[in-house]
Amino acid sequence: QLSERLTRVASFVPAGARLADIGSDHAYLPCYLCLKGVVEFAIAGEVNEGPYQSAVEQVQKVNLGHVISVRKGDGLAVIRADDQIDTVTIAGMGGTLISTILEEGKRNLQTVRRLILQPNVHGKAIRQWLSDNGWRLQAEAILEEDEKIYELLIAERGSDEDLYVSKELDLLVGPYLRKERNAAFQKKWTAELISWKRVLSQLNKAKPSEELEAKKIELQKNISLIEEVLR
Ligand code: SAM
Repeated sequence: QLSERLTRVASFVPAGARLADIGSDHAYLPCYLCLKGVVEFAIAGEVNEGPYQSAVEQVQKVNLGHVISVRKGDGLAVIRADDQIDTVTIAGMGGTLISTILEEGKRNLQTVRRLILQPNVHGKAIRQWLSDNGWRLQAEAILEEDEKIYELLIAERGSDEDLYVSKELDLLVGPYLRKERNAAFQKKWTAELISWKRVLSQLNKAKPSEELEAKKIELQKNISLIEEVLR
């Protein structure tokens, strides 16, 4: 049984895709998609030995060795040009790590047409990377599972000039998510607001420094942006 989070990720993978799932851990996502007949070939990429072995074992267990290639390597380095990968999923990590993986491996994205990214935190880092690198956000989702809130960002190649009405705010909260403003969205940003305000009040009590001032300005700016959205 796949988690609701990964089921949502899977729902954005196009039929017939050639998939690379980066940071695949047990390879649950590529196994699920192959068993359902959604993807015709998948790479399960892992940088760490333990999760890599879990992926190898899981793929053997469900007899999918002929369609899932489990590879050990850092980020997108596991993708080769002749794999003709058209879809990449990177799920269950922080947004900063996901954007670093994309930046460091962008040469390996030549055949890729869709990115499905699921950050646990810091979606902003990913939206910024997408925008800077010629990818257009096509859809977003936000969901709560086991008391945790997850964002999903789906992007394809293209200009996003007309997408961001208020760019600073939309990079932070997501242009589609802001319009939808569902319960998970409100819960996430209400909690962020409370935590930022707590941090700000602590910083106000600390010994002043230039670095601290910059941090306070950044926090204050984000607090105002989110207060506006939740109003
Ligand atoms: N994608 C699965 C999911 O969403 O349930 C597993 C998420 S797990 C929390 C993150 C996985 O990413 C770990 O197994 C870790 O070893 C792997 N990972 C972290 N950095 C990586 C990198 N640079 N390249 C490949 N895998 C990486």
